[in-house]
Amino acid sequence: ISSSVVFGGLICDQLKDSTIEASCIDSATNLADEMRCNHPVFNGNRTNLEKHMMKMLAENEDFDGFMTYIRKPKTYMETFIGKEVEKYIKDNRDKVQNILRRNVENITKLLIKALHDATRAVKTQRGNIEMWVKEFSRLTEHKVKLSISCEGFSDIDNFDFLEEQIETGLTSNKEMMGDLSPDEIKKYRLQPDQILIDQLCNCCWVTCPFCSAVCTNTVKDHSPDKHSAPFHRPTGVNGSRITGTNNIVVESCTTLVASDDAFKPHDPDVTIPYKQYKKAGERHASWEITSDGSLLPFWKWFTYRFQKELEERYDLRFTGKGEIPNNWGEIKKEDAIKSLDEL
Ligand SMILES: [Zn+2]
Ligand SMILES: [Zn+2]
Repeated sequence: ISSSVVFGGLICDQLKDSTIEASCIDSATNLADEMRCNHPVFNGNRTNLEKHMMKMLAENEDFDGFMTYIRKPKTYMETFIGKEVEKYIKDNRDKVQNILRRNVENITKLLIKALHDATRAVKTQRGNIEMWVKEFSRLTEHKVKLSISCEGFSDIDNFDFLEEQIETGLTSNKEMMGDLSPDEIKKYRLQPDQILIDQLCNCCWVTCPFCSAVCTNTVKDHSPDKHSAPFHRPTGVNGSRITGTNNIVVESCTTLVASDDAFKPHDPDVTIPYKQYKKAGERHASWEITSDGSLLPFWKWFTYRFQKELEERYDLRFTGKGEIPNNWGEIKKEDAIKSLDEL
């Protein structure tokens, strides 16, 4: 009997840690699902997420953030997802704690059922403790890991008593785990933000060679289909200058590809007309840029609002042919943000 008490205690200790781990992993998945359904930032596709990200950048007038987003859109989006998830957990601690509690309960239920089933099986087959452990592990291994040696416990033959011992232990474990902190989730391999990154960022991230707009194709490798984006930006936001001057380019790609202007792709001796941009090499040729002259008010507002910062960043000037059209300054931030709804 004392052997059963010791052995049962060892099993319960092990199951406690693995129940916490399994509950956190299940909760990470539940939490990601929950946010995919109910959180406006996550309940659409990547374009929707990008819209929220740009909105926040505009609201905070965060120039450095904009620059990181323009230069490294994928990295920036992943960081944004991480921050949003952290904020969500912080703002919804009760909800997260309930999810954790529910998972602890489900796993405890599963363990108790396996406990009964293993005991019944060993009793009918007149098995020993080794068989009991094997059977219990088989029934629970999809959720929790148990690795315990039966050495020194071969005398255990009252399986009803062992079952009782373990059930009592599991129930008190469950009570102790009733108030797991939402921060506990962060300690394990599966994180809610990583799940969302896998779901939302697994698409094409190739950027426009002129303005750095991200291709909106939802398939990662979609060749031979060309990259495309419904909205391009003034190419100056990416540091483009008018050849031979220090003037920033304020036109968007959709205007440039219809113009009679030219650009220098890499080699200073080579000049390519924008109309033939696909001749500038593979990177340019892989893009389909429509020449409809479209430009979101959002980017007009951005260019006007951050003209000094852009001039400093690229050591260029909004003068001469790079002068900002007067009416760009009249666009209000709210209207700029509203224009993102066209995305
Ligand atoms: Zn572009
Ligand atoms: Zn693409």
